[in-house]
Amino acid sequence: MVKQTNNAEETQQFASEFSKKFKDQGGIIALSGDLGAGKTTFVQGFAQGLNITDKIISPTFVLMRQHRFGQDRMLYHIDLYRLTDNPDITNLGIKDLLEETHDIVLIEWAEKIKVQLPSNTIFINITKPSENSRQIEISDTIN
Ligand code: ADP
Ligand code: MG
Repeated sequence: MVKQTNNAEETQQFASEFSKKFKDQGGIIALSGDLGAGKTTFVQGFAQGLNITDKIISPTFVLMRQHRFGQDRMLYHIDLYRLTDNPDITNLGIKDLLEETHDIVLIEWAEKIKVQLPSNTIFINITKPSENSRQIEISDTIN
């Protein structure tokens, strides 16, 4: 499935709608795309859709931020930007998270750990045809 958006708000709106699929189920969502593609913007909209009111900023310097939502659920926002290619997820301390079924894990620059991601991972790739338009491509592995 491919969605084109024409500004950042449209990307957030789309991500907000997309997040509703995860209201009652967890998931691993791998985000890829160049710097400035809109990965963090997507996570912001996704979090809004789950009624998360925390400010969503990129966890570039801390690897991961977590945001509570719903009754007892967690959205984990990981950013691998500063890491070299294919870091060991056990050493990073995120292996257990990737076995999540209850919580949601969104990973920016997930292509760096592609071979270590579970088979139920949803892949989202964002490309930038022009300054304000984006193509958001979602792999269809959702039940
Ligand atoms: P990334 O996390 O992929 O590096 P960001 O989400 O931090 O990217 O930045 C995307 C930038 O592109 C933001 O400044 C945003 O306002 C801008 N932008 C312009 N058009 C769009 C669009 N259609 N969708 C998402 N972001 C857009
Ligand atoms: Mg980012």
